[in-house]
Amino acid sequence: MKVIYNKNFNIDLGVLKYLHPFDGMKFCKIHDELAGSDQVEFLSPEGPIEISIVDDFLTSVMRHRVKNKNGIMQALEIPKVPFLSYSYLDKKILTPMRWGVAGTLFGAKKVLEEGGVIWNLSGGYHHAMPQNMEGFCVYNDIGICYQQLLKDGHVNKDDRILIIDTDAHHGNGNAQTFMDNPNVVLLDIYNASIYPASEFTRERVDIPMKLKSGTDGETYLECLKIALSKITGEFKFAFVIAGTDVLAVDKLGGLKLTVDDVTEREKLTLKKLADMNVPAVITGGGGYSSESAIAVTKAILAVTRDYQRL
Ligand SMILES: [Zn+2]
Repeated sequence: MKVIYNKNFNIDLGVLKYLHPFDGMKFCKIHDELAGSDQVEFLSPEGPIEISIVDDFLTSVMRHRVKNKNGIMQALEIPKVPFLSYSYLDKKILTPMRWGVAGTLFGAKKVLEEGGVIWNLSGGYHHAMPQNMEGFCVYNDIGICYQQLLKDGHVNKDDRILIIDTDAHHGNGNAQTFMDNPNVVLLDIYNASIYPASEFTRERVDIPMKLKSGTDGETYLECLKIALSKITGEFKFAFVIAGTDVLAVDKLGGLKLTVDDVTEREKLTLKKLADMNVPAVITGGGGYSSESAIAVTKAILAVTRDYQRL
């Protein structure tokens, strides 16, 4: 398995970590666990995504808000701390996220050239959109990536693109970003009892699978199978948002999956993509609990073992 990682993905909040339920160093933990495997090849983008590329994606109002301390703190759900400067937030959080966006774009270009599947440990910021940032998402990496792929001719607007979102939260940012683009097909399996509750974006999802708080792994996997079976037609490639906030230990997701359930989930998703012969970029999505890193590590090793073509 090709895995995209750079040490700059990591979000080291220092003293701030006491203000937020967040393991921002999970990328480094996954990397270190996988580093001993000869089945894993690490790749990295050359740098963070350029600000001008992000600006091209954003509305004019957002271009200013994204460079404003208060707007960023609200999006990141950090309590207002007077001594924090924008440059501190930019260095500690926004720059790592821009590396994550670059990882998704790097992976997408590579799978479009070579086929197969690439796993970006970061990215999957599915609550961000051109006109807003929220839910710990500032830059919608998938939207920015799609924009760039169109610009440089890797895809054209008639190509069908698939987004499989298995993060515990509804991907309102992706739904809003692709609201008027029927060639981007959205499958979203999420806890419908929690944020975000926007019916407007929920209705944009082509293949929705709404779950209740407390859904266990067995039920989740059955529901995912049903949703995956509804995907029809051909696709140029796919994005997957493989958030680990579905884990029972996660404080935000409200679902009850185990680490092994997450492995089964990724196997189901990748089996479907392999059966359809659709290249894909997996992105990290949400999930910053104590078990997130181990769930991702185990899943990557398991799918690499099972699907040699990957
Ligand atoms: Zn989430």
